[in-house]
Amino acid sequence: TIDFEKASFKDFEDIPGIDPYGRAALWTAYVDSRKQVGEWNYRQRNLSGCGPEMELELTGIAHKRFVSLVSNDYLGFTQHPRVKAMAAEAIEQYGTGAGASPAIGGHYDFHQWLEEKIAAFFGRDSAIVYSTGYTANSASLQCLLRRDDLAILDMAVHASVYEGCLMTNVKTFPHNNMDALERVLKLSNDRYRTRMVIIDGVYSQDGDLAPLDSILELCRHYGAYLMVDDAHGTGVIGDTGRGVMELHGLLREVDIVTGTFSKTFAHVGGYVVASRELVDYLKFQARQHIFSATLSPAAACIGTAIDLVDDEPGWMAKLWDNIRHLKGGLQGMGLETGDTQSAIIPVKIGDIKLNAQICGLLLEAGVYANQINYPAVARKDARVRMSVMATHTEEQLDRVLNAWEWVIRKTGIGKRK
Ligand code: PMP
Repeated sequence: TIDFEKASFKDFEDIPGIDPYGRAALWTAYVDSRKQVGEWNYRQRNLSGCGPEMELELTGIAHKRFVSLVSNDYLGFTQHPRVKAMAAEAIEQYGTGAGASPAIGGHYDFHQWLEEKIAAFFGRDSAIVYSTGYTANSASLQCLLRRDDLAILDMAVHASVYEGCLMTNVKTFPHNNMDALERVLKLSNDRYRTRMVIIDGVYSQDGDLAPLDSILELCRHYGAYLMVDDAHGTGVIGDTGRGVMELHGLLREVDIVTGTFSKTFAHVGGYVVASRELVDYLKFQARQHIFSATLSPAAACIGTAIDLVDDEPGWMAKLWDNIRHLKGGLQGMGLETGDTQSAIIPVKIGDIKLNAQICGLLLEAGVYANQINYPAVARKDARVRMSVMATHTEEQLDRVLNAWEWVIRKTGIGKRK
């Protein structure tokens, strides 16, 4: 019933008359067929660490050490001695697990401290922490938007936002298209109880930024709320790392700010920064917060990472030196990096198979970058995606640029200027 050449992941979610075991069997056949034509390259690799250089066990490739461009640990804080020491200290003091969900004995003083710290980081009053960035979005939105409401999403928002909107009405607009957003806002006026526009600050596959000032203006004009997930902008964008809101001087204007502790903040977890009432409501109405244990004591290290953004601004400066060095080098070779303005640098290839070949060649040359294709992006938009860290050395980034030179010679991609 499914044409594997054209199938989308969604086609396997629900097939009339076929039970989950039948769907799983079809899925296995689909994956096998994609492997045979060289289109399937998802695999979990067992890494030896999350620093800028690591060891990988790969069959058929002589290199053992690779420059890594796959981590979102943008400021390198997962390796920072103060962050590590705080995690160890907190485990020593509290033990290794929270032991319960927050409303029934699992909320510790370090959770309270983290909530106050992340709210203060954004210059706001209140925050709630969740066990992942994914749940910060999905659980909060499921709680806030229901049958009579409308979520208006930039098409490129993170999957967790889409999941959060399963209980409400959804309209999407093409990525960063302000005319289309205005049309949706105009046409939906008066038809819904609450309308909320939801965007990312930095988009995770292109590394480009939301035009936050225009979006906020439209929201105010048409009476819609605005929620911004700045998972990739926090610690990277703005003079002091407060993300796209700082870039536009709008830190206190956005209704709901969400993000993750798994990137710049060097651990795992997520947060929602909003008004005190909204935060209190989420604490006792967001089901995943009530019925699920939250961050373990090691998460106290997030507080140290938050402090380090201000205490050691040199990391952000170094990150931007690195971004300019790598991006400038790639663009100088004629490679297509799109409109990235962050630490995420894509090289757009287009064809899935060519993309797979290029990622294989990069590995041969000692460079581990992410191979991104469907369903993360459209089939025709396959790309190599690189995340830059403050802790990459210039020598490591030069190795990456040399590897790309070699890939260009081998494949003919890019046009020399
Ligand atoms: N939002 C965005 C924009 C993301 O890219 C991600 C994850 N990469 C998340 C949310 C989810 O964060 P977490 O990994 O903490 O669940």
